[in-house]
Amino acid sequence: MAELIDGRAQADALNLRTAAAAVEFHQRGGDVPGLAVILVGEDPASDIYVRRKINQCRKVGIHSAEHRLPATTNQIELLRLIDSLNGDPSVHGILVQLPLPDGIDAALVLDRIAPAKDVDGFHPVNVGRLSTGTGGLVPCTPLGIMMLLDSVIDDYRGLNAVVIGKSNIVGKPVSLLLLEREARVTVTHIETRELSEITRKADIVVAAAGAPHLVRGYWIKPGAVVIDVGISRVANPDGTTKIVGDCATHELDHARAVTPVPGGVGPMTIACLLSNTVQAALQSLSQPDPPTNESDAKVVRSDCTPMKVGQGIATPVQ
Ligand code: NAD
Repeated sequence: MAELIDGRAQADALNLRTAAAAVEFHQRGGDVPGLAVILVGEDPASDIYVRRKINQCRKVGIHSAEHRLPATTNQIELLRLIDSLNGDPSVHGILVQLPLPDGIDAALVLDRIAPAKDVDGFHPVNVGRLSTGTGGLVPCTPLGIMMLLDSVIDDYRGLNAVVIGKSNIVGKPVSLLLLEREARVTVTHIETRELSEITRKADIVVAAAGAPHLVRGYWIKPGAVVIDVGISRVANPDGTTKIVGDCATHELDHARAVTPVPGGVGPMTIACLLSNTVQAALQSLSQPDPPTNESDAKVVRSDCTPMKVGQGIATPVQ
């Protein structure tokens, strides 16, 4: 029977470390770590995600400020709000809930967030730091995936890791993190031929395709570790619906360890957002004033202290 990697328990443990780090921030002269969450429009799923994130903030001692903007908000108004949050010293993390309404360029909006406050890790500066292995804020889902993997793998060197999916928020960053640990990484996607032949040779499979039960038992070699990132809602025969992942977990008894869906990667994603926020707050204690506009942001970008991913809170590279 494969070990179930308990994402809820690991998220709880990470939240305890984050709460302790929030206290440390205060002891070192900071006030309260602050997260600003921007939600534009009325998307019901986004509404649920934002509420969940805000509730969790309270539990770990982060002050959260919600900025709900009507769907009619234009790009300039949104950029102005980000500029003002960039310049607000009580805000250490800024999160723009995606998707944004039509007519707003998401890439432009995400690029406007000061890299030091980019707790989602989507800014090109943080992406660049990740790809060069020089730290920065790491995207939450890949960071959580690595923590789950770390709970069952000590040494990645030479392991054959296969990532299914090449998105900017999961597939690409998790591939870079695995590469950083010196795994032999194969990134696959919708156009990859004979995918099951590739996964069958893997010691680690990270499935982030959004394709329900794509990964079957015969795709996985005995003893492999499988991380299921996918979240899909599917219909039951009785007309109700349920959430399933990318892996047919009931066929994976021969794996060494697997993450369940729900209760695997999902809880870790939010816990990593909180961790990133407190980490950004701690970093702000040793950084100059945050930028107030895009040109000022360039100054701070070059001053970002590199961080490395560790067990729990990302720690500055000394
Ligand atoms: P995406 O749609 O941006 O990317 C999906 C990737 O999978 C693409 O690169 C695509 O080429 C590949 N792909 C799709 N179908 C495939 C197939 N049949 N075979 C091989 N490759 C295939 O999605 P995303 O944003 O990376 O998210 C992926 C999944 O992870 C979704 O189900 C999403 O809901 C879930 N997700 C979960 C969390 C979490 O916190 N648990 C966070 C982010 C995303």
